[in-house]
Amino acid sequence: MESVKRIAILGAGESGLGAARLARKNGVSVFLSELQLIPEKLKVQLVKLNVEIEERFHTLANLIEGVDFVIKSPGIPNGIQILKKIKESGVPIISEIEWASMHCNKPVIAITGSNGKTTTTLLTTHILNSAGRNAISCGNIGNSFSAAVADDKADIFVVEVSSFQLDDILSFKPNVAAVLNITPDHLDRYRSFDHYAHSKKRITENQSEDDILVIDEQQKQLESIQTNATSISILPQEIDFIQLNSGITISSHETDLIGRHNMLNAAFASEIALQFGVSEVELRSALSTFKNAPHRLENVATINGIQYINDSKATNLDAVQFALEGIEKNIIWIAGGVDKGNDYTLIQDLVAKKVKAIIILSEETSAIENAFSHIVLNIIDARSASESIRLANRYANDGDVVLLSPACASFDLFDNYIDRGNQFKEAVKQLKNK
Ligand code: ADP
Repeated sequence: MESVKRIAILGAGESGLGAARLARKNGVSVFLSELQLIPEKLKVQLVKLNVEIEERFHTLANLIEGVDFVIKSPGIPNGIQILKKIKESGVPIISEIEWASMHCNKPVIAITGSNGKTTTTLLTTHILNSAGRNAISCGNIGNSFSAAVADDKADIFVVEVSSFQLDDILSFKPNVAAVLNITPDHLDRYRSFDHYAHSKKRITENQSEDDILVIDEQQKQLESIQTNATSISILPQEIDFIQLNSGITISSHETDLIGRHNMLNAAFASEIALQFGVSEVELRSALSTFKNAPHRLENVATINGIQYINDSKATNLDAVQFALEGIEKNIIWIAGGVDKGNDYTLIQDLVAKKVKAIIILSEETSAIENAFSHIVLNIIDARSASESIRLANRYANDGDVVLLSPACASFDLFDNYIDRGNQFKEAVKQLKNK
């Protein structure tokens, strides 16, 4: 990497800051361009790092002259004008994970998929650390891969990787890659489902036979994956067992994880950890102490026999499907938000079987209304988390579940899925205090 003298970064998000830190640590000069105003706190950090910045517009010359690479934030859609012009100039555009991997000489585990990435990333790290390895979770999860490499505190990097990050890799070559599943998501950003699936499969494109690819061969989309890596296929999972290729089985009662999808996630994490020499005893013990991140089928409270579950992170239909399947009670379903191209007919049968009432928590209500009005008698709109709970309680009886599992992004009424989940939890708390 000694030949890299200067980079340009598009986008001042978490990944942009991480890329800048890693560059400065390696003596590389940095120009960062952001279309919005850069928050003051971040600006101070960038100035301290001696990063040259521009905000509110992108200047092509600054982004290409004397620049070895342009690092693009995963939030910036492909195909915008400035990217086209950079491409025409011949300066390579890379993602932040590509940049981080250029500077990382320690083992990298990369985990992608439409759903379950965060859970599996955290669980893999937890198992490795419980068994005495020094692993860190990074990437899409919050702390960027570049920042983690710059900090240089870990011996194994467990990287949660999104399809957007994979769109702009060149030589990214994880020692272990995992593709959890590929189901429709982000269809607002990709030309088609095949394009989205293609991005995910790129995780293995530079792997050689010394590397490992963990996949679920039951997944139709993965039948056509091309790889040179040694592949490990996950066994089909039951709702109450984790079954591994080595013959180890672990009961779900030994963990806090709920549902078949989490048994799959746990099987992925376990197979990966076993590759790093973790023993069965260490694995069992680690699975029993894992606490998942909030907003993923999070049990909030039971009040007057009604259970409230926060699954705000369920921003696509597949996640909702697993939530509805995993709950064995009547459900008052709170759904809606910014639709990313959902085909609700896929879950109509499940909804007909399980859902008593739907509360649409959204500015735009017609897609859900049209899909379910002939199936579910009670459909009603809400504009805030507290209103959604108040309305849900009209229909909920002792033994029912009120489930926030939106199938949509949150940006119409909330800052993000965390804000949506927190407001839901706060509204439940208020109810409890009454
Ligand atoms: P990601 O990081 O890929 O968004 P998370 O672990 O944050 O995944 O989980 C997001 C949502 O998907 C949650 O609602 C969770 O219950 C659901 N989920 C988790 N694992 C799976 C899976 N393997 N298949 C389908 N849905 C899943």
